[in-house]
Amino acid sequence: MMDTSAELDVELRKATVERKKKPGHRCLGKQRDGGFALIVGVPTACFTAQQLHSLADIVERYASVSHLSTAQSIILLGISRQNYYPARQAVLEAGFQIRSVGHDVYHAKCCPGADFSPFGLQRTFSLVTYLEDTFRCLPMPVKIKISVSGCANCCANTRLSDFGIHATSKGWRVYIGGKMGLAPVVAQMISLSISTDEVPKYLAAMLRAYREQAQPNERLFKTIDRLGFETFKSEMEQYLDQPYDDLAAEAKQARLAMEQGEAIGPVE
Ligand code: SF4
Repeated sequence: MMDTSAELDVELRKATVERKKKPGHRCLGKQRDGGFALIVGVPTACFTAQQLHSLADIVERYASVSHLSTAQSIILLGISRQNYYPARQAVLEAGFQIRSVGHDVYHAKCCPGADFSPFGLQRTFSLVTYLEDTFRCLPMPVKIKISVSGCANCCANTRLSDFGIHATSKGWRVYIGGKMGLAPVVAQMISLSISTDEVPKYLAAMLRAYREQAQPNERLFKTIDRLGFETFKSEMEQYLDQPYDDLAAEAKQARLAMEQGEAIGPVE
């Protein structure tokens, strides 16, 4: 009989829960094996052969194993405290993103869309890259997960994300307020069809409304639930025509801070 039993490390679990509540929290922190973890990715999750070679070198030098996450990232596990910052530097120098686990806008999960999938109705890759370049790491009351699917099959879990879109023959259908986890919530449709250019405007408007309306540590679905969908929708609509350069500048600043910050504290 296979034994899958494990002793819960109560102290580590408690420390992790507490750390995750802190503003600016950006790192997975210490893991059960005593090592640290880095979440690595590229926009669209399309890795070239060269990128995979570089990543293999980094794993060999600094980590014990790499794990493919459900969010289309690669988690480097088993990094010693001494190796954490050199590993992070190597990841950045190789051109990868360090992905956030904090209270901010996450990278966007996507399917291959019309570039590859026989069912795709719009191309997903260029749009996802733009959304990440513009909004990734923007500070938020709680995390914001984005997903982009190339058709209504929603292979990227569009309706289980805070901001999810799927392609139609004319553009994109938009859903907000979904989540996965212990009690999944299915996102609600906020627009039947928008153009590709309107997608970042909708996302920016949703982020502004959420920041404005959320109570501390309140996930988006709860804010929508508390205010009522129609009220949140009108809050969001007032921002639709507002340029989002300010959000993009703030996100860029936050990305730099994350990449350079003392994520696990000083190393003796
Ligand atoms: S969501 Fe549609 S386009 Fe994307 S992989 Fe699934 S079937 Fe293909």
